[in-house]
Amino acid sequence: MLPFPHSPESEFALAAVEAGVAICKPIYAGTDRGALKKTDASPVTIADFSVQAVTAAMLADHLPNDMLVAEESSAALREFENGGILQAVTDAFSRHHQPAKAAAVCNWIDRGSGVPGERFWVMDPVDGTKGFLRGGQYVIALALIEAGEIVVSALGCPHLDEQLRPDLDGSGVILLAARGSGAWLRRVDGTAWRRLHVAAQNQPHLARVAHSFEPTHTNHDLLQALLAGLETSVDTIPMDSQAKYAMIAGGTCDLLYRLTSTGRPPGSECIWDHAAGALLVTEAGGCITDLHGEPLDFMQGRTLAANEGVLVSNGTLHAAALEVYRRVTEKAG
Ligand code: AMP
Ligand code: MG
Repeated sequence: MLPFPHSPESEFALAAVEAGVAICKPIYAGTDRGALKKTDASPVTIADFSVQAVTAAMLADHLPNDMLVAEESSAALREFENGGILQAVTDAFSRHHQPAKAAAVCNWIDRGSGVPGERFWVMDPVDGTKGFLRGGQYVIALALIEAGEIVVSALGCPHLDEQLRPDLDGSGVILLAARGSGAWLRRVDGTAWRRLHVAAQNQPHLARVAHSFEPTHTNHDLLQALLAGLETSVDTIPMDSQAKYAMIAGGTCDLLYRLTSTGRPPGSECIWDHAAGALLVTEAGGCITDLHGEPLDFMQGRTLAANEGVLVSNGTLHAAALEVYRRVTEKAG
C-alpha cells in the first residue's frame, strides 16, 4: 500500500527501491562485494550493476515508454578479466527478476544510458558506493523528472532505522515522496507509513550540519570556514550518500552544504546524486537550491551544469545559510 493515491509511477518507484534493497543486502553480507575501479577511479560493485539492471527491466514491465538515466554502464563488466563479476551480476538478476544470460543483463544495464529530456527516470543504483564497501551508509535512489520538475522519488536506505539512525543490522527503511503528497517513511519489513517533517530549528549556531564522509568529496577548508561562519558548536554529521537528505527530511539534521571538491569544475554534480533526495526534502517542508540560492536545473543533461554546489536545509535556516556562504566566499575572494 502507498501512503498517498496510487499511480503507476509511485508504485514502480517503491517496487524498484524495495528490489534494490533486497539485492544489496546479501551482496553486502557476502564475502566478495566485487568492486571494480571505473575510469574516474571511483568504485563500482556487483550491487550497483545488479540494481541498475533489475530497475531497467522492471521499468520496461511497468512503464515501457519511459527513459532511464542511471549512473552505471556495462563497459567494464564486458571485459574478459571481469567475467566473475559479470557472472555474479547475472546470478543476482536471475534471482531477483527473471532468469537471463549475461549479455542480456549487460543490455539491461545499458538501458540506463538514456538522455535526459521531457520525462525521464534518474537513478543512482548504489549512491555511496564507498560507504557500501566500508560499512557506512548507502542508498538506492530513484526519481521521475517531468518538464524539469521532480514528481516522484524513492530512497531505499538499508543502513538506517525508523528514527533515521545508522543501523547495520535492521531491515532498513524506504522513503517515498510524490509532488504535493508529502514525504513518507516506512521500514522495509513494515507496512505503516509515517509522514516526514523537517526540524523547526531556526538558530544557525545550533544547526546540525551533515557533510560527505569522504574528505575528497567536499572542500574541507571551505566547510570549516562555513561552520565558523554559522558559529556552530554542534558536532557535524559525516555521512555517505543521500542518507543525508533522508535525515534532513526526517528532522534529525538541518543543513547540508554540498561543496565542489578542490580541482573539480563547478557544475559537475551528477543529477542522480540529488534528484531523489531533493523531492523528499521539499515535500517534508525543507528547501534545496545551489550555493547561490538558484533552483537546481535538472534539464541540463547528466550533470547540474548550470548550478554551483548544492545547499539543502530544513527551510527555516536556508536564507541564513546562503548568507553565511556569501559572506565567507566573498571574504576568501
Ligand atoms: P557522498 O556520499 O556525499 O560522498 O557523495 C557520493 C556521490 O557523489 C557519489 O555518487 C560520487 O560519484 C559523487 N561525488 C564524489 N565526489 C564528488 C565531487 N567532488 N563532486 C561531485 N560529486 C562527487
Ligand atoms: Mg552516487
